[in-house]
Amino acid sequence: AKSLGRGSFSYYSNDLSKRAAERLDMEVRLRRAMQQGLLEVHYQPQVEITTGQIIGAEALVRWHDEERGYIPPDQFIPLAEQSELIVKLGDWVLEQVCRQGKAWLDQGYPELQLAVNLSPGQMRSNDLVTRIAEIVNRTGYPARLLELELTEGALMHDPEVATQRLTELRELGICLALDDFGTGYSSLAYLKRFPLSVLKIDKSFVRGLPVDSDDCAISRTVVAMGHSLGMSVLAEGVETEQQLKYLQGLGCDIYQGFLCSPALPEQSFIELLRAGE
Ligand code: C2E
Ligand code: CA
Ligand code: CA
Ligand code: CA
Repeated sequence: AKSLGRGSFSYYSNDLSKRAAERLDMEVRLRRAMQQGLLEVHYQPQVEITTGQIIGAEALVRWHDEERGYIPPDQFIPLAEQSELIVKLGDWVLEQVCRQGKAWLDQGYPELQLAVNLSPGQMRSNDLVTRIAEIVNRTGYPARLLELELTEGALMHDPEVATQRLTELRELGICLALDDFGTGYSSLAYLKRFPLSVLKIDKSFVRGLPVDSDDCAISRTVVAMGHSLGMSVLAEGVETEQQLKYLQGLGCDIYQGFLCSPALPEQSFIELLRAGE
């Protein structure tokens, strides 16, 4: 029994160090990828439900790795989140989006609200607001056309600090959205205090519409609550006409999902925008 114990211990520790090594390897690759310009920002349309117009887009980062091919953000954002890398990556995405948004405006495209994800690690950095203000000023993209998406986790980690940061961002003119709503542990008391403009219904609740009665009840409640707090409500992960119809009936304001389009490279996104004009 003793030797078995030792054996399993050493197996365990090997496994741990293997995972640590893999993580380190991934982190090194990610740093390199950033330097070599292998990260790309794609844009997923956000559609106003009453008019069917594309009024904005969510920026979603993609990593194209030579050996591994296409690596989805779920596999490297959490890793970056464990180090300072997330701050660099976040700044990079924000700068790309503001530059791109400014270029589209200069080319005469209609104004779009461009949404960028902000992760908990970025929220914790003390000079967050200063750096965002710098990027917005440097690129000349109007702050009112920029939206930052935050998860409940990013806000509830330290609600006092979050309230302060969000208020400063709001004073710059930036819009704020609560992402993945319903999956975290928000306190409704805080929800009221954060200066949020948009509530995003998580796609896990949209999936079961219009059949699953729990998902229907949750969606209906979120729309009503968002509106009564003065927010727009956006449903994400909309894949079918039936889901859209149901959300329309609830008075949901905006949708995003494969029904309209997945996230697209900038060129394809602009082609889609042109086709809808
Ligand atoms: P998220 O912010 O909740 O983004 C929405 C995710 O849902 C995206 O996955 C999008 O491609 C996917 N999606 C959109 N429409 C549909 C649909 O109709 N059906 C389904 N099943 N999925 C849909 P993606 O691009 O793989 O991103 C995953 C997560 O990675 C994001 O979730 C976000 O948390 C994170 N992420 C992506 N880009 C960034 C970034 O630039 N910065 C930070 N901090 N996080 C990012
Ligand atoms: Ca928006
Ligand atoms: Ca998001
Ligand atoms: Ca989301």
